[in-house]
Amino acid sequence: KAYPSASKLLLLSTCSGGGLLVYSDSSPSRRTLTADGQEIKKKKVVVLGSGWSGYSFLSHFNNPNYDVQVVSPRNFFLFTPLLPSVTNGTVEARSIVEPIRGLMRKKGFEYTEAECVKIDPSNKKIHCKSKDSTSLKGTTEFDMDYDILVIAVGAKPNTFNTPGVEEHAHFLKEADDALKIRRSVINCFERASLPDLTEEERKKIIHFVVVGGGPTGVEFSAELHDFLVEDVAKIYPKVQEFTRITLLEAGDHILNMFDKRITAFAEEKFQRDGIDLKTKSMVVGVTADEISTKERGSGEVVSEPYGMVVWSTGIGSRPVIKDFMHQIGQGQRRVLATDEWLRVEGCDSVYALGDTATINQRRVMEDIAAIFGKADKGETGTLNKKEFKGVVKDICQRYPQVELYLKKKKLRNIANLLKSANGDNTELSIETFKQALSEVDTQMKNLPATAQVASQQGKYLAKCFNKMEKCEKKPEGPLRFRGEGRHRFQPFRYRHFGSFAPLGGEQTAAELPGDWVSIGHSSQWLWYSVYASKLVSWRTRSLVVSDWVRRFIFGRDSSSI
Ligand code: FAD
Repeated sequence: KAYPSASKLLLLSTCSGGGLLVYSDSSPSRRTLTADGQEIKKKKVVVLGSGWSGYSFLSHFNNPNYDVQVVSPRNFFLFTPLLPSVTNGTVEARSIVEPIRGLMRKKGFEYTEAECVKIDPSNKKIHCKSKDSTSLKGTTEFDMDYDILVIAVGAKPNTFNTPGVEEHAHFLKEADDALKIRRSVINCFERASLPDLTEEERKKIIHFVVVGGGPTGVEFSAELHDFLVEDVAKIYPKVQEFTRITLLEAGDHILNMFDKRITAFAEEKFQRDGIDLKTKSMVVGVTADEISTKERGSGEVVSEPYGMVVWSTGIGSRPVIKDFMHQIGQGQRRVLATDEWLRVEGCDSVYALGDTATINQRRVMEDIAAIFGKADKGETGTLNKKEFKGVVKDICQRYPQVELYLKKKKLRNIANLLKSANGDNTELSIETFKQALSEVDTQMKNLPATAQVASQQGKYLAKCFNKMEKCEKKPEGPLRFRGEGRHRFQPFRYRHFGSFAPLGGEQTAAELPGDWVSIGHSSQWLWYSVYASKLVSWRTRSLVVSDWVRRFIFGRDSSSI
């Protein structure tokens, strides 16, 4: 039987002037009674975020000896892979969200709808703000204590401080963003259909610019194109001819994290579809009417009028995480660094999952060198080919990032790299291997953050907590590679199940394990089945499938509500 500790006294003070309500939940732990009446002190686990990593952690967490408290500004889980489909009405926003209250009730967890604005690791406290509440006439702020903190707050869109982006561009990160885009697209067509406009004005209003040629930017462009071809042509026949989609990418190619065959196919398809693809084109500013780009080849700055801009160029740390990083001496880093057990470096009782964190690559590199050193038997300083393969396999198992990189580069490229660095010698020196791996290191930093990684991390950490007592009683787990002592759990290992890039027109590119690439209509059916199966409940699954069927039969809804 669980009962709250006496220290849980919530209302501390009310500031009358600003209408600010401040309270404190200072109950780090509750107690529970065993069958023989003994008291066990429960540790309090505070989870920040209800996204991919947080939801996965919560749904796999199953240890009654912890008190779990969730803090997140949104009381639902959002299935982000289908967010681009919401922007044109292929799928409804409500079909891809799962309220988390149901999970909280089932698991006996507590939920507070609020945003964590400060983490105080030295006092094991977080400071939170709830959304503006009209009934309370202000903002509610409160502190909450924790014994263990799980940070799963994701990331925010990165504008690279480009002037005008925050003010004039749309982002595609949250359900609200997708709904705003949907309304904005329809509004553009309604405005372009007004009488007495010149051709130039109509062209400007329905010029859609997408910035960023990553998977999200590409998928959104494809969805928008489908909408224009399949629905707009019928609904707005008079203005359809003035429509234009421009996709801007600063690099040489779009989808550069995918296999080259996929990139080439996507670029050709977009050209065939009439999507204006501009690579080597970096956005330097956005105003209310124009978007300016600097062309990498010529250095020329070009400005173009637009009707709507969608910004999708990657992610950056949230302010609360930046502040936390400064406090714990990680201020110089781009993302929060954890060890391979997902513990934030330098903070033993804080874990970080998903887009908000990355496994510290420097340590990874040292561990890799240690694996190599171990395999080297210490005598010759060289490895033969068979030993080299064994070492690579070992590294791949421990480090998902390296595995992804090696797969992308097709392992033999690395072998060739090593071979050429080492002349004709089939034996590889430690130094050569380290050199080659420093290239791997550079590449690893650029790996995209995905839902796959986030959900696997959530599941991994929950499983660690589930067997915490057993492992504490029997701590003879595997030896940590570096550093002193033993660690109770295996390090986190990522399994890559492949990636999809929907390209529109019922065609999808799929890159699956084993370097298997498939592009076309058959992959689209694979995409439908995988995503339907990955939805987190039968409710959302049935809603999404019925949305797809509705779209096939009746087309998309073009109202701007
Ligand atoms: P999120 O899922 O973003 O969750 C963060 C949570 O933290 C949210 O609940 C948020 O409300 C909460 N939060 C935010 N700030 C605070 C705070 N201060 N305090 C408390 N809580 C806070 N990945 C794939 O693998 N495949 C795909 O097809 C794919 N498609 C995508 C399409 C789009 C449009 C987008 C935007 C992303 C896509 N991704 C995809 C990436 C994937 O969504 C992210 O990698 C994943 O969401 C990361 O999970 P997370 O738990 O770290 O963060």
